[in-house]
Parts: sequence; structure tokens; C-alpha cells
Amino acid sequence: LSTTDLIEEHRICVCVRKRPLNKKELTIRDLDVITIPSKDVVMVHEPKQKVDLTRYLENQTFRFDYAFDDSTTNEMVYRFTARPLVETIFERGMATCFAYGQTGSGKTHTMGGDFSGKNQDCSKGIYALASRDVFVMLKKPCHKKLDLQVYATFFEIYSGKVFDLLNGKAKLRVLEDGKQQVQVVGLHERDVKCTEDVLKLIEVGNSCRTSGQTSANAHSSRSHAVFQIILRRKGKMHGKFSLIDLAGNERGADTSSADRQTRLEGAEINKSLLALKECIRALGRNKPHTPFRASKLTQVLRDSFIGENSRTCMIATISPGMTSCENTLNTLRYANRVKEF
Ligand code: ADP
Ligand code: MG
Repeated sequence: LSTTDLIEEHRICVCVRKRPLNKKELTIRDLDVITIPSKDVVMVHEPKQKVDLTRYLENQTFRFDYAFDDSTTNEMVYRFTARPLVETIFERGMATCFAYGQTGSGKTHTMGGDFSGKNQDCSKGIYALASRDVFVMLKKPCHKKLDLQVYATFFEIYSGKVFDLLNGKAKLRVLEDGKQQVQVVGLHERDVKCTEDVLKLIEVGNSCRTSGQTSANAHSSRSHAVFQIILRRKGKMHGKFSLIDLAGNERGADTSSADRQTRLEGAEINKSLLALKECIRALGRNKPHTPFRASKLTQVLRDSFIGENSRTCMIATISPGMTSCENTLNTLRYANRVKEF
């Protein structure tokens, strides 16, 4: 390993999470085409047909830092992904954790918790698990003497615009000053004293995010949700953890849709996901220039891609079904590129 490899190893973690086949997939007898043969390998077995109509499986192998199979709990995923990053923000660092994948592949389930049934439970999502550990760490004697205050923000980026989920979706402006410092003007930073306070905010923000949604073309699949835990000392930023539930990556393909609005949104999503990949790659290579201005998402996360003590984790979520094969392969290729130089 070279020094660069070590920096990269330490700074960027990329993993994949496979969800179980859901009811709909079971009903149509969709095939599970994904196997996780070891803790860091994902295999896709894509059914194909030759010209003479004989069928065969095309097997493709991908390696990541971790691969989680469909029996893995949120708590386990958390332990290997976001958990190590909680330390970073106590060491005056910037941490980010992204959930990337197709709509319906489990991004919100992983980050926010379970919002599918009647008994919505956000206590098992990574937002909540990370917050819980921030309060646990805060009680350690070495941190207690720092007298840190904890704050939370929750906002959404939709079609290149920022909306505050803790303030009735108020539209916010993003400003960059002469020193390239980026500020989201008027973003509500709520002061939180315990995990329960955070859970309430997640509920508020999430209902604000999903209100008025009707269909599969729901707004939440076309927006990025950003939840942040901020540590302040005497008012000054000490560390920040940004946890992001990204827009569905298949939406980037909507650029040929008949509907103009959908096309524009698709182009915007495409742009932001490409910019995100480039920013993480720049972080891994320890490059001085991070192309953060290429999208609103990377612009508001600028602080997280620069600096000595920035760390990132990407959780690529995948659907197991054959019907999702193409999207799954796109997700795996993207995740692969994030860390491949
Ligand atoms: P996304 O946010 O990527 O669009 P969701 O998180 O909403 O996808 O997941 C779609 C559905 O699949 C939800 O009903 C969710 O509860 C379920 N689901 C997702 N991941 C898992 C998992 N690992 N185990 C069980 N159910 C899951
Ligand atoms: Mg979602």
C-alpha cells in the first residue's frame, strides 16, 4: 500500500446493501439475481439469451469494503458504516454518509428508518442510531470537558433548490462568500439534548418531506434529503455529520421524458450524482481542487469534501430482482467508481 492508498482507505468507505425480495416481486415471481458470496463481494447473475435462444447466466463480480446481504439489520449496517464516523466529528472532523440507489431499493429504510407501514419507526434508521451514539460519546469525560452543544438540521434539495424540512419547506438561498465558504441562509438549526429530541425532528422533517405525495413518481424519489448533526463549542463549529438519502439514481435517466419538468429534474439529478462522485474521488485522491460547484448538493456539502479530517461512507442499496437488474448494475458500477482511481 502506498501513502495515497492509506489515505483513501481511511477516508472513503463504500459498501453495498441488498434488500429482500418484496411482496410485489414475490407476486410476479421475480428472480433473486444477487448473491453475496463473502463479506465484501457482490455477484450479479443476469439471465441472458444467445441468438440461438439458448439461455445462460452472465455472472459479474464486484468488490467493496463491505457487502451486506438481505438478512443484515440496520444496526449491523450502521456499525460498519456510519458508526466509525461518529468519532470523526468529535475529533473536529467532517463526516458524510450517503445512501445511493434506485427508488425502492432501501435508501430511506436504511437512513431514516421504516416509514412503510402504519407504525412508522424512525428509531432504527442510521439518522437515529448515529444521533444516539453522539449523545453516548458526549458523556465521556474527555468530551464532557469540551462543553459541546448538539444541533440538528434537516433539509431537502429538489431541482437545484434547497427547502427546510424543519420549517415548513421554506425555500432557502445558498450563498458563497469570497473565501468559498458556503452558507444556507436561514436554515433552522435545532438544539437537541437527547435522542428523543432528534427522533421528533426526524418525524417532523419526514412528514414534511412526504406530505402531498401520491404516486410512484413521488417527490421524495426525486429529491436529496440531508440530515445533519452539528457539534458546536462556544458557538463555533466543532464537527458536522451529514447523512444523506439521495434521489433515486434511475431518475437521472428521465432526461428523455416527454414532460419538460421531469426532464429538467432528471438532468439536475444526473448532474448532482456525477458531481458527487467526482467530489468523493477528489477527496480520496487528496486533490486540492474539489469540483463542488457543479451542483447544489455538492455545493452545500463543500465543507465535507475538503479539509484534513473529512471522511465519507457510501451505502449503495440494491434490489435483488431480475426486473431491477439494469438499475442494480448501474448502482454497482457507480459505487465501484467512487473508490477506483
Ligand atoms: P428507497 O428509499 O430507496 O426508495 P425504501 O427505503 O422506501 O426505498 O424501501 C422500499 C420498501 O422496501 C419499503 O417498504 C421498505 O420498508 C422495504 N425495505 C427496504 N430495505 C429493506 C430491508 N433491508 N429489509 C426489509 N425491508 C426493506
Ligand atoms: Mg426513499
